[in-house]
Amino acid sequence: MSSIFSKIIAGEIPSDIVYRDDRVTAFKDINPQTPVHILIVPNKEIPSVNDVTPEDEQTLGHLFVVAKQIAEEHGIAEKGYRLIVNCGDDGGQEVYHLHMHLLGGRRVGPMVVKRD
Ligand code: 5GP
Repeated sequence: MSSIFSKIIAGEIPSDIVYRDDRVTAFKDINPQTPVHILIVPNKEIPSVNDVTPEDEQTLGHLFVVAKQIAEEHGIAEKGYRLIVNCGDDGGQEVYHLHMHLLGGRRVGPMVVKRD
């Protein structure tokens, strides 16, 4: 079954798309955690990092090139931002179509919630 992100990429579900090319689509997160919260998604439906193969290397490297470009376009490159890829239940992954979160526009805070 196709993921919700595949439906967004195909234009079957509306979203606020900020970038698109033949390998990658980027759109605003529906539930933003920071002033800038954009999801950068390979057009190919790779469920999670656990499903990555060597043939995906160029596409996944391209996610970083697009992230840098979007950060510049949104005026957050200089102050900085965080890129996150969640994998699996313990990683907090909700949508099983690999994606990179681009978070910025304020201090993002601790990288993980610290255990007591
Ligand atoms: P994950 O937890 O899998 O790393 O992140 C999934 C992200 O997708 C969440 O931040 C969630 O808000 C976002 N999301 C889920 N469904 C939709 C949707 O239909 N449209 C958009 N734009 N974002 C979504």
